[in-house]
Amino acid sequence: MAVIGFDPVRRSWVTEAEAKCKNAPLPIPGLDGQLVTDAASIQEASQDFGYIIQRTPFAVLRPGSYQDIVKMVRYAGRNCIKIAGRGEAHSTYGQAQATGGIIIDMRLLNDVGTPTPGGVWVEAGATWRAVRDATLPAGLTPPVFTDYLDTTVGGTLCVGGIGGATHRHGLQIDNVLALEVVTGDGRRMTCSPTQNPQLFRSVLGGLGQFAIILRARLKLIPARTQARVYRILYPDAASFVAAQTTCALDERFSFLEGQLVPDGSGGWLYLLEGAAYYNPDAPPNDAALLAGLAPGATIEEFTYSDWLSRLDPTVAFLKSVGAWTLPHPWYDVFLPGSEAASYVSTTAAGLTAENTGNGPILFYAYRRSKLTMPFFQSPCEEVSFLFDILRFAPPVPAIVQQRIDENVALFQQARDLGGKRYPISSIPFSQSDWIQHFGSDWFAFVFQKQRFDGDNVLTPGHGIFGTP
Ligand SMILES: Cc1cc2nc3c(=O)[nH]c(=O)nc-3n(C[C@H](O)[C@H](O)[C@H](O)COP(=O)(O)OP(=O)(O)OC[C@H]3O[C@@H](n4cnc5c(N)ncnc54)[C@H](O)[C@@H]3O)c2cc1C
Repeated sequence: MAVIGFDPVRRSWVTEAEAKCKNAPLPIPGLDGQLVTDAASIQEASQDFGYIIQRTPFAVLRPGSYQDIVKMVRYAGRNCIKIAGRGEAHSTYGQAQATGGIIIDMRLLNDVGTPTPGGVWVEAGATWRAVRDATLPAGLTPPVFTDYLDTTVGGTLCVGGIGGATHRHGLQIDNVLALEVVTGDGRRMTCSPTQNPQLFRSVLGGLGQFAIILRARLKLIPARTQARVYRILYPDAASFVAAQTTCALDERFSFLEGQLVPDGSGGWLYLLEGAAYYNPDAPPNDAALLAGLAPGATIEEFTYSDWLSRLDPTVAFLKSVGAWTLPHPWYDVFLPGSEAASYVSTTAAGLTAENTGNGPILFYAYRRSKLTMPFFQSPCEEVSFLFDILRFAPPVPAIVQQRIDENVALFQQARDLGGKRYPISSIPFSQSDWIQHFGSDWFAFVFQKQRFDGDNVLTPGHGIFGTP
């Protein structure tokens, strides 16, 4: 059902049929795409991967062009309506939602241009899987992929985008050459490190607060064809953190991640996962890669492409048993390296199959000096750690609330130690939490908000500038 205008008195959308019996709705500008209000579209846009928060928008924009986004962002500003981009909505706590607002379905803008050694233009709604599929045949690859390839380029460029190559190359936001965006005040602009650099540096990791990303020019590097994967178990967090720290600093692996795995008797082991990317004419030196690490490594070979999509079978299984649409009260934080071992071992002692829902627990090192964007918040230490409890919960509100409460309690401890929230997670945040989150960057964040989205129309779901 297409809408033709907005009734500013009733604050509701007006369809063609309704317009006959209502006074002068504010007309929707002519669009190449559509603004829809049908129940299925609204229902989808009210939900995300968390299945915890539901906020109902007035309408969903299915953009047919970049100009549609310009027009609707301006329209939203004139009518005091919130507006937010939505990728695949893999956020877990309403970050891509907008009560009574407009949701832009970015998935319709998903073109991937021709990859060259100088980079590739990619529309914001394209998934990282589509980027992989377009770039590898040209022998090129973005330096950093998320573990799961069906996140969108626009979505991860708003939040950061961390992966196993982050200890070498930074986040996905650190590997962008240019952006084309629509600012919150409706200006279509191109930005890069040299053109409108403040806009560029604000949007990347800026949580959708300054602009809607239309497309990004991604950095590409030569791709290797193979991935040799080394898995090494550690009995405790302290020895694991020491090994991760060594590997993060000497960059021996192309890919470095880790996770907690059950030890079979109610406790946890710590699994270091390193990968060397290579071409068959130059295989990696196993002894050099494993030097100084715990004995007993297992080694497995993949093609680079298959390694990037290694989660596919697990995701297919989770979908087949209905677990994909269970609530996901995820806990995602960054920890300073000096506190990581004691914090994680203490936290792990309280983790069970019941309170994690058997979801994976990720724990791996990255280097702060590789991060370049000002609004992405990380602990101060050079070696810091991602710690994720990727919980699954039964669809029982009281249990979901219990998991959220556990996240809050865990986060308070992490924050006291210098930890930072990864803003994809299910941790309720008030404005004072955000002020604390940004610390000395808060005033710059507010300044850029006033500069590019002075009417505060963009991306209310994080609750940074008002109740979501
Ligand atoms: C199975 C799984 C695995 C994951 N693995 C990783 C991982 O390895 N590393 C990692 O960093 N993250 C990971 N994530 C988290 C993921 O990065 C976030 O969920 C992130 O939000 C991207 O998802 P999305 O593209 O669906 O974005 P959405 O959730 O749709 O959007 C994220 C935010 O960006 C805004 N937004 C979206 N598109 C635009 C746009 N074009 N312009 C302006 N604002 C926009 C939204 O309003 C929202 O605030 C994983 C998530 C899942 C479900």
